[in-house]
Amino acid sequence: MPAPLIRARLALTADGTPFSEEFGDVYHSAAGGPAQAAHVFLGGNGLPERWRGRRSFTILETGFGLGLNFLVTWKAWRDDPLRCERLHFVSIEKHPFSEADLALFYKDFPEAGAKPFLAQYPMLVPGMHRIELDGVVLTLFFADIGELGELDLAADAIYLDGFAPAKNPEMWAAPVLKRLGRLAAPGATAATWSVAAPVRAGLEAAGWKVEKRKGFGSKREMLCASLIRKKEIQSTSRQRSAIVIGAGIAGASVCERLCARGWEVTLLERAGAPAAPGRHAGVFHPVVTRDDSLFARLTRAGFLHALRHWGGLEGLAWERCGVLQLARDEREDAAQRAAMAALGLPGEYARTLEREAASARAGVPLAAGGFWFPSGGWLRPFSLIRALLARAGNRLDARFGCDVARIAHENGAWSAFDRAGKALARAPVCVLANAAGALELAPSRSIRMRRVRGQITFLPAAAFAAPRVVLLRGGFVLPALEGESIAGASYDFDDPDPEPRPCSHAGNLERLARIIPGAGAGLNPAALEGMVGFRAVAPDRLPLIGAMPDEAGFEARQQRLDSMPAIAGLYGAFGYGSRGLLWAGLGAELLASLLEGEPLPLERRLVAALAPGRFVLRESRKKPTAARA
Ligand code: SAM
Repeated sequence: MPAPLIRARLALTADGTPFSEEFGDVYHSAAGGPAQAAHVFLGGNGLPERWRGRRSFTILETGFGLGLNFLVTWKAWRDDPLRCERLHFVSIEKHPFSEADLALFYKDFPEAGAKPFLAQYPMLVPGMHRIELDGVVLTLFFADIGELGELDLAADAIYLDGFAPAKNPEMWAAPVLKRLGRLAAPGATAATWSVAAPVRAGLEAAGWKVEKRKGFGSKREMLCASLIRKKEIQSTSRQRSAIVIGAGIAGASVCERLCARGWEVTLLERAGAPAAPGRHAGVFHPVVTRDDSLFARLTRAGFLHALRHWGGLEGLAWERCGVLQLARDEREDAAQRAAMAALGLPGEYARTLEREAASARAGVPLAAGGFWFPSGGWLRPFSLIRALLARAGNRLDARFGCDVARIAHENGAWSAFDRAGKALARAPVCVLANAAGALELAPSRSIRMRRVRGQITFLPAAAFAAPRVVLLRGGFVLPALEGESIAGASYDFDDPDPEPRPCSHAGNLERLARIIPGAGAGLNPAALEGMVGFRAVAPDRLPLIGAMPDEAGFEARQQRLDSMPAIAGLYGAFGYGSRGLLWAGLGAELLASLLEGEPLPLERRLVAALAPGRFVLRESRKKPTAARA
């Protein structure tokens, strides 16, 4: 069972130093948090000098606490004219503070410039949260230190900042120090104010060379460590340019994330023009399950990432009006309540409402109560695609009316060709973001995708009293947007019919009536308008994001995803099913991080659940002899 996140409570000692009653220790030296951060953590790791001349530099911290070390580091980076281009600060924290407590605390440190950080501070839910602050990327991992192995990164500097080892031993345990060694890049350093003998011994046992230096405040000494090791990682420097195939939400998101990192991208799209303004709108909302399933965690990560990212885009047609997911029956009602009781999620993320309260929110009488997601809502996909392509800027060469019929890898680069055999573009990296079409360009024995037809129905506002919020119960219905509401959607496997048809409208009206009893009763399906789209769905309903596997080079006895050979330079971002809105932004950030060798924005087990190579592994487990043949 997942452990609910328990937030920290701010208390102060008599001299005003922040204190944890749970751990019986102070958050920083009574001689001053910012000065301690500068002396112990920056100074102890040779910063800012060591990040100079680097393109990217990664700091890993154990214990985010009040974020003072982060704020001091961020300020030192801002003030350094020789700073690296991109600074990653990754910190793990089991008991984060609320935004209100942090704001209260930072009042005494106006020089730290915490406002932009607080504006993006994540909701207090477990998992990884990535915040971009002008060249500094903060990844907050709200989890127990025991989950350190879920991080995928190579740290250049490590700040060891748990509470005192005697009061908080799990933060300094030998397996933790060993794991930190594995997460360290060649040439990495670490620093801490603690000189406890077991910490020193643990670091040495994990392959660090440890020395004592002058400490801060009342501490005479502190520990600084450097990694004795290990072969240099081969430089992965290559020309930073890519072809992206497909200008839907998946492809536009990849373009935006790569261009933000200075890549040159050629986008090839079959349609003759960028997404035209349309009547369609998609919904976005979290998924809550009692066991906090992989699907729920992935959706949470995508949902929160999308909200943060969309907030910075211009011209989006969207509204966070809230989403009600009505229970389908008594069993689901009980399951929803049990999930809320087990997970302790904050009300700004999810809560349950009785039928009456839900109806009052919706402004229409509902068939049931259910989950209320106050930050969910609807968004017009075309507006997102346009905003992403605009944000990508002039590093993006977006070409429409380009139907890619074939791709080929020659002399270290990928080329895309049209049906006449004409080369359209060439680059070392090629990203397939064209839904089920990806497998036509890169055929696979193991990956199977189904196309699922989805028809939506437009309901004229005059003929139907629309709700004020998005409603879900099997199907969905939206508030009235520009004179009409939208109800949907059919889920028709392997049905290639691109035209709206009355029987699918009738199905959508049935779905509607299960949400709002009696709604749509007088409407004639044959007289309604609608739209058809196609979802690309993998058997496990999760998208495919990452390197495309080299199936011929895979030996079944390896049985491991992390040793799966990859096709050089070929990546996928497809199979989003009906959740492109939710997952494509985070998927693109993951892909760009993989391509750049940056810390990944998602837990390892979630990254593994998305890796296209997972199907090769599953196939080989099913038929070991055939796979070896
Ligand atoms: N670096 C912080 C700053 O700059 O404000 C101060 C960190 S404080 C000394 C130690 C932090 O470790 C606390 O915020 C505490 O909640 C966190 N912590 C303690 N036990 C933990 C565990 N098992 N897993 C993750 N974090 C933990």
